[in-house]
Amino acid sequence: MPELPEVEVVRRGLERWVAGRTVAAAEVLNPRAVRRNTGDLAAQLKGRTLASAERRGKYLWLPLLDGPADTEEAGESLLAHLGMSGQLLVVDPTAPIEKHLRVRMGFADGGPELRFVDQRTFGHLLVAPMTAGRGRAVPEPVAHIAADPLEDAFDDAEFAVRLRLRRTGIKRALLDQSLISGVGNIYADEALWRARLHWARPTEALTRPKIFELLAAVRAVMTEALGQGGTSFDSLYVNVNGESGYFDRSLAVYGRRDEPCRRCGTPVRREAFMNRSSYSCPKCQPRPRNARP
Ligand SMILES: [Zn+2]
Repeated sequence: MPELPEVEVVRRGLERWVAGRTVAAAEVLNPRAVRRNTGDLAAQLKGRTLASAERRGKYLWLPLLDGPADTEEAGESLLAHLGMSGQLLVVDPTAPIEKHLRVRMGFADGGPELRFVDQRTFGHLLVAPMTAGRGRAVPEPVAHIAADPLEDAFDDAEFAVRLRLRRTGIKRALLDQSLISGVGNIYADEALWRARLHWARPTEALTRPKIFELLAAVRAVMTEALGQGGTSFDSLYVNVNGESGYFDRSLAVYGRRDEPCRRCGTPVRREAFMNRSSYSCPKCQPRPRNARP
């Protein structure tokens, strides 16, 4: 499952290779890939320009212009959900068809195509109207999602207030997309380790400076992952140019059960958490007495 840094890597690829180009023809090869779309995706994209590449959390979209590059905004975006295994590839139009190719888009300039390839078909594409989101315009399906910590629209002070009001465990809060978006299981564990917080620490007991320290840790792990091309445990995941985003050497605790903590050498512990796992250091991140699972 791609996390925010992987999606940002894809966004940057789209911004570089696709933004500003006008769709000549789109072809849907598998209707499952457009199951949430209302209307005919090929007709909705034909002749329109993909203005830029935008992201909030793990959501990715390309705002549409009505026609060629100098026309008005259409008030709609092409929204891409990568799901578990979705890939957006920029390839030469003559390149062989991928086995799991779902949608392809050719451009008026005759240059590289954009292809949506998805083995497990959980991902999908849709054209969605733009609406007011938190801090900026977003496609309608993204309207309920909070800003992510790498966005300008993210308000640290407001986050601290809302976090303490949640009265829940800190990790559960970090994964709540209506409070802060784009933080998945891997980066939550890594950031909590850096901030020396156990995942079940009650949010209402955290001081503002500690919350800001945690936000700095979240941003640091994401920014470092970005510098390394993102991290992913799914070998199916590749970025927009087909390169693997797989990278795990920088991980301090995630997936490192019984291996030594990189700070103190204590074996990393794994605990069950919301049908998943939480990795932490028993010494650096002691379990609080008032734990909130
Ligand atoms: Zn430790």
